[in-house]
Amino acid sequence: MIRPIVRDPLFLSQKSAPADEGDRQTITDLLDTLRANLDRCVGMAANMIGVRKRIIVFCCGPFQMVMVNPQIIAGTGEYETEEGCLSLTGVRKTRRYKKITVKYLDRDFHPGTGSYEGFTAQIIQHEIDHCDGILICTGGQRDPCVRRMSVRARSGRTAGKQQTGAETRKNPGRRVMAAEKSQRLKRSRGALSAAERTPSDE
Ligand SMILES: [Zn+2]
Repeated sequence: MIRPIVRDPLFLSQKSAPADEGDRQTITDLLDTLRANLDRCVGMAANMIGVRKRIIVFCCGPFQMVMVNPQIIAGTGEYETEEGCLSLTGVRKTRRYKKITVKYLDRDFHPGTGSYEGFTAQIIQHEIDHCDGILICTGGQRDPCVRRMSVRARSGRTAGKQQTGAETRKNPGRRVMAAEKSQRLKRSRGALSAAERTPSDE
């Protein structure tokens, strides 16, 4: 069944729980919804149709693939790119691995491991971010407030801080936006600390 796309940033910023065989209908609905949106979308996570379970679907050539409880176990060749999202307006800068190895269960819940590169690897990383409640951007402006916190947490191994600074310098309306972002950050922190109280959070 094709389901409506969730755009609520508070809902989308919560971490998804592991999926199990009781989630087969969600897999079917997620595939149906991706196929109905192929003109503007190449991948989806289950929380984008309102189910906070760790299931992603994505295009791989002419096929749509399913991964249940996907886990990136290796990544090489980090680079910076910009991405859009069906649930959000605008694009964001982010860092991705060029090549990844992913452990997952397929749609029949058989375990698998696969290596992916290029665009397919990028989609998988974007959708796994959704499972972790990582997103950006509200109100049509480039606003990586939620994403930025995550980047800061990982700034030891990424160039996240420098990237954020460069973005701020380029923006002529930065003072106004900084004030707006500060407001949003406060709200996001509230949302995140609520999420942190769930036992599934790390
Ligand atoms: Zn997305």
